[in-house]
Amino acid sequence: MLKVQEVVKHFGGIHAVDGVSFEVSPGECVALIGPNGAGKSTCFACIAGQYPLTAGHILWQGQPLEKLAPAAHLRHGVARTFQVAQVFEALTVLQNVQLAAQASRGLRAISAFKLLDAQAREPAHALLEKTGLQALADQDALSLPYGAKKRLELAMALAASPQLLLLDEPAAGLAEQERASLMQLVRQLAGQGMAVLYTEHNMDAVAGVADRVLVLIEGRLAAQGSFEAISRDATVRRRYLGE
Ligand code: ADP
Ligand code: MG
Repeated sequence: MLKVQEVVKHFGGIHAVDGVSFEVSPGECVALIGPNGAGKSTCFACIAGQYPLTAGHILWQGQPLEKLAPAAHLRHGVARTFQVAQVFEALTVLQNVQLAAQASRGLRAISAFKLLDAQAREPAHALLEKTGLQALADQDALSLPYGAKKRLELAMALAASPQLLLLDEPAAGLAEQERASLMQLVRQLAGQGMAVLYTEHNMDAVAGVADRVLVLIEGRLAAQGSFEAISRDATVRRRYLGE
């Protein structure tokens, strides 16, 4: 289980995250929502080990994550994606996933002349199938449409066989149908026992997907509960939904 305990992250005078506590269990799909600048990405970066915490603790399966280097997270079953998809544009779609699978096993390039391990090809194909990218396997990542790039980033995260998946705005910038199918896949992953934590702006990607919703406002949790419950919450309606 992921346990975020009284996490504080300040950037100088900016209190980006200001005492946040929550938990995510295996099989649970939890959405972290809130207005721009609420501290969602910072919260994520803290869990992913990108920043030292100002205060607090983050435990994953009893291990303090905040003491691990970001690269060590993968070996502990924690994978993440970024708000702006990060892929290797010079490689094909298949090669990106292959490389991600290799990296998660701690392998670097096979040699200076051989980057990719052929053994990683089969599992990479399976992941492309799962994420609906099979038809684009040999296309350069550079020329991918935006939605496919978001999917590719998810496939790369899944290549590490994570038990905890952190997705920063997985559906941002996607057209409605694309968003729905991506979120259905996310829902499915939780159904298979993964713990999923994602940030989101679009309420269509939260309703019917998240088991539980955390509302972050000015670095603090303003509410949490089912989507229905937080939609009824007076503070959330006033300060986030703009009513
Ligand atoms: P969200 O993802 O909810 O939009 P962020 O976590 O990106 O919010 O930002 C929360 C606050 O922290 C904002 O005021 C932002 O300007 C600030 N912030 C985020 N990252 C940094 C950083 N690396 N250095 C300084 N300030 C930052
Ligand atoms: Mg953000």
